[in-house]
Amino acid sequence: MKIAVAKEIDPSEPRVAVSPDTIKKFKALGAEIAIEPGAGIKSGLPDSEFTAAGATVSADAVKDADIVIKVKRPEASELPKYKRGALVIAIMDPYGNEAALKTIADAGVAAFAMELMPRITRAQVMDVLSSQANLAGYRAVIEGAEAFGRAFPMMMTAAGTVPAAKVFVMGVGVAGLQAIATARRLGAIVTATDVRPATKEQVESLGAKFLAVEDEEFKNAQTAGGYAKEMSKEYQAKQAALTAEHIKKQDVVITTALIPGRPAPKLISSEMVKSMKPGSVLVDLAVERGGNVEGAKAGEVVDVDGIKIVGYTNVAGRVAASASGLYARNLFSFIETMVDKANKTLAVNWDDELVKATALTKDGAVIHPNFQPK
Ligand code: NAD
Repeated sequence: MKIAVAKEIDPSEPRVAVSPDTIKKFKALGAEIAIEPGAGIKSGLPDSEFTAAGATVSADAVKDADIVIKVKRPEASELPKYKRGALVIAIMDPYGNEAALKTIADAGVAAFAMELMPRITRAQVMDVLSSQANLAGYRAVIEGAEAFGRAFPMMMTAAGTVPAAKVFVMGVGVAGLQAIATARRLGAIVTATDVRPATKEQVESLGAKFLAVEDEEFKNAQTAGGYAKEMSKEYQAKQAALTAEHIKKQDVVITTALIPGRPAPKLISSEMVKSMKPGSVLVDLAVERGGNVEGAKAGEVVDVDGIKIVGYTNVAGRVAASASGLYARNLFSFIETMVDKANKTLAVNWDDELVKATALTKDGAVIHPNFQPK
């Protein structure tokens, strides 16, 4: 069983799909690990760290690999190097990318999308959305603090008092909860909002104050799967009025609101942005899905009359070493389920619910029901 780790060819992707820790775990499963040179450099992992853990480093790493692991979906130029029938596991970003999936299918590899992993107890350790969103939530606060020209904690000094920063977190999923915890650790006064009632208690348990329009619709806003529903126009108007009043008094706003399969809800209008004090900061973690803040631009920091809107993409990648370590562990835990431990061989059970949920292509065809050619 040969596992290869490909170096990311997208220059904006600093993460790597393996860690010294998972190399040792793969070896214990009976696998050989080969890594393309320099794959870990941007995550602070030189080749020597990988060889010390028992991997080989080679430009031909992927050539005869049974499994290729990556961070991002392989591009067309990478596919000819892979063995037909190899498993290729990555964050595939499949929605709206049907043409790329067809190219992968044509290359004869079996591609798996880590982000389609079901959110069930057994697969928690493989949940790449959570592992990366948690770090993105942390980093969003660091970005906000960096762009905000003032301190977060209240400081009473001989030269005067620095007031505590007021931080407002919109969307209290995995990223939002970590943003609240991080802002609290830095000493900010934190408020937070979500449309799912279950989040109220979570917000309060972190020492923040919950703020939301708590009407009948709010009481039913959570789907059976634990996600948010798209709210009615009436609810959105009430939510906007509450937000508009609150936001004027905030120093840093962090938005993380998403609805599965839909564009991100627009929660902050340009007027609301302009109502904030100069020097205030908004960090829009939903920018890659259209953004929660009007005027946010993917990959940019926009200045609106002295108010900054931070729209960095791949925010987890801005904590590359930690993000790589957790992602590598997500991957290992998934691959472990595909190995026959007695014979130390690859034995994919195509009927396993984890495999069914994540497998995109096999034997030259796109097999996932959500991505069938129209
Ligand atoms: P997400 O990234 O889909 O959305 C982020 C947050 O935005 C959510 O809390 C959502 O309710 C909120 N939101 C949507 N529309 C909004 C609006 N108009 N105003 C304010 N907030 C809005 O969420 P996520 O981080 O993936 O978490 C979703 C759920 O899944 C949570 O209940 C979480 O606890 C759960 N979860 C379960 C598992 C598991 O069981 N393995 C793992 C991770 C998360």
